[in-house]
Amino acid sequence: MTTKPSNNLTFDMPVQFLKGVGPARADAFAKLDVKTAADLLEYYPREWYFAPPPVKIEQLKPDHTVTLAGIVESTDWQAWRKPPYFEAYINDETGLCRIVWFHGRFLQDKITPGMKLVVWGKTTLYKHQLQLTNPKFVIVDADEIIADSFSGPVYPATAELSSGQIKKIIHDSLDNLVELVPEFFDSAFMKKANLIGRQKALKQMHNPHNETQIADAKRRLKYDELFLMQAALALRRYKVRNFEKAVALKCTEQIDRRIRKRFPFLLTEDQDKVIEEISADLSKTVPMNRLLQGDVGSGKTVVALHAALLAIANKQQVAIMAPTEILATQHFTSIERYLRNSDVKRVLITGGITGEKRKEILDDIKSGNTNIAVGTVALLQEDIQFADLALVIIDEQHKFGVHQRAGLRKDTTPHCLVMTATPIPRTLAMTVFGDLDISIIKHSPPGRGQVVTRYIQPKDLPKAYEFIRERLKAKQQVFFVYPRIVDSENGDVKAAIAEYENLSKKIFPEFSVGLLHGQMSGANKQKIMDDFRRGKIHCLVSTVLIEVGIDVPNATIMVIEEADRFGLAQLHQLRGRIARSSSKSYCLLIAQTENETAKSRLEIMERSSDGFEIAEHDLKLRGPGELLSARQHGLPDLKIANIIDDSDLLQMARKDAFELVEKDPMLSSSGHKNIRTELIRKFSGSLTLVDVA
Ligand code: ADP
Ligand code: MG
Repeated sequence: MTTKPSNNLTFDMPVQFLKGVGPARADAFAKLDVKTAADLLEYYPREWYFAPPPVKIEQLKPDHTVTLAGIVESTDWQAWRKPPYFEAYINDETGLCRIVWFHGRFLQDKITPGMKLVVWGKTTLYKHQLQLTNPKFVIVDADEIIADSFSGPVYPATAELSSGQIKKIIHDSLDNLVELVPEFFDSAFMKKANLIGRQKALKQMHNPHNETQIADAKRRLKYDELFLMQAALALRRYKVRNFEKAVALKCTEQIDRRIRKRFPFLLTEDQDKVIEEISADLSKTVPMNRLLQGDVGSGKTVVALHAALLAIANKQQVAIMAPTEILATQHFTSIERYLRNSDVKRVLITGGITGEKRKEILDDIKSGNTNIAVGTVALLQEDIQFADLALVIIDEQHKFGVHQRAGLRKDTTPHCLVMTATPIPRTLAMTVFGDLDISIIKHSPPGRGQVVTRYIQPKDLPKAYEFIRERLKAKQQVFFVYPRIVDSENGDVKAAIAEYENLSKKIFPEFSVGLLHGQMSGANKQKIMDDFRRGKIHCLVSTVLIEVGIDVPNATIMVIEEADRFGLAQLHQLRGRIARSSSKSYCLLIAQTENETAKSRLEIMERSSDGFEIAEHDLKLRGPGELLSARQHGLPDLKIANIIDDSDLLQMARKDAFELVEKDPMLSSSGHKNIRTELIRKFSGSLTLVDVA
């Protein structure tokens, strides 16, 4: 029997019922996403400070490390000094002390008169006065200032809830709350893994006595967070592998040879390797769940088509889905190229096809007459029934989302191949797509032109225009790209439109300039793109639309304005659009920025043409960002661990979690009960693992 905590606390008890929290504070906590007792326990401090006990200002001596606590009397930002500094005078009723922070401009709106401030640092003598220079500091509440110790956690606070208030509330319930926390691991494992106990970790996190305790606590809590996430992924993977059945698709040498005859070139080494990986997956009754990564133009479509034809050779159907109709159409067109004179029955379904025609198409798919159906994700998931769907190919291009694979087939699960041109760094892929297998095409087919990338200032645009004019005269074509979100209504499209006016009337009146953006009708867009493809339009002014899709070998220049607003992966993909010809192409990144990170990002673009290298840099400079945040993939975001900084811990947690699920996939042994309970508590809303666990 476990002993119940004395005061009937539970994990899911609303914070309102905790000591020191009433309805008003509960509301304030809700804004911090803290709703239950468990949330509060996981509301970790932002930082900790360990100031020695304070001394009185009248007792100060030079060259001593001391803590002072007092009220801020006055502040000033001395901008004209060299170096500039921020100064504050604090008063502790025994005297006044000057505190100086060099370059402390940012402190102007942090430290203001009337505040209670604790500072600690070394005293120095300046013009016969003792002062503290660049000390550490913390702003404290009135009731804290009378305490004689200022060590403790600092919590992310709001106007309604100060760090001090949060600290008091957590500390008042900490012992009782921690009693509720079950241990996941036995002591032998913890010893080996160098992890302290879970209860101890939480106590030390919220109330540490020194830096070592904090480090130990963080390590354990980060490990737990990563471990639980990886265990959830391992369970998801286990479920797909053991509870879902797919049709096994055999690839004989004869089939493989016949398929390859369709391609007017030899496949690259990378394509061969990836085809082998995919064929091996497809030959099993375990549904494939594979992510195929490769730059735009690296030859993914060919690989996907190989898989598709393999399925068809096995008398099965294939669905190819793209995020937009333009992309779906383009896939269909390129498939058509390879399938000329073949008796594979393929169909493109678009929103424009209605009535009898649509019914006919759907009937053919339902009867199994059609071998390949190409359409948008939405379209193919709608109401379309397949007779024998065995493979789903999804082209994500650059936005990778979670897939609802249900609905396409009832009795078996189709194999699934997701293609993406986003180079996803290994660290990230492992974390977020831990239940997917990954194939990578690293090297593009030979004969790709080189793209020279230059980052330039807007003031140099006139020179760039002259350069472009020369290329236009030589019958080359140009993309002008704007960062605006196409569907936004706050005038964003105007950027492209205004620039279109400028370019067509003033800069390049002698050439034909076209405009493409998301608010145009589908037919209009198609016409503009056809005109560009045929060379009737020389300059295409566009929003990021062109990222998904135009294949024009003659387009050898791309000008990207406000380039600092794009993600590097996106810039890299845009740039891929002009690597289509065998001649040298030019990508001009225009940006006006003083931001050092932004500049170094653009410099990476100048330097590197390796999508993975670029993505790794971007990840380091900017973090994983929204695009690949855990939440987007159906997992809760991490609260304390960071997949980049803690990648060692991540690898360890991943190995342990996958081993655990392999040994005890139902987590049914008594030693795993607590892990199981926690997984259900944490992930039941976002993962379908509960029916396994
Ligand atoms: P992705 O889908 O990765 O953007 P594609 O499969 O569309 O790339 O290939 C891009 C271009 O390269 C196409 O024109 C295709 O015909 C060509 N291609 C693909 N594989 C090869 C190869 N092994 N050798 C030569 N050209 C190839
Ligand atoms: Mg493609």
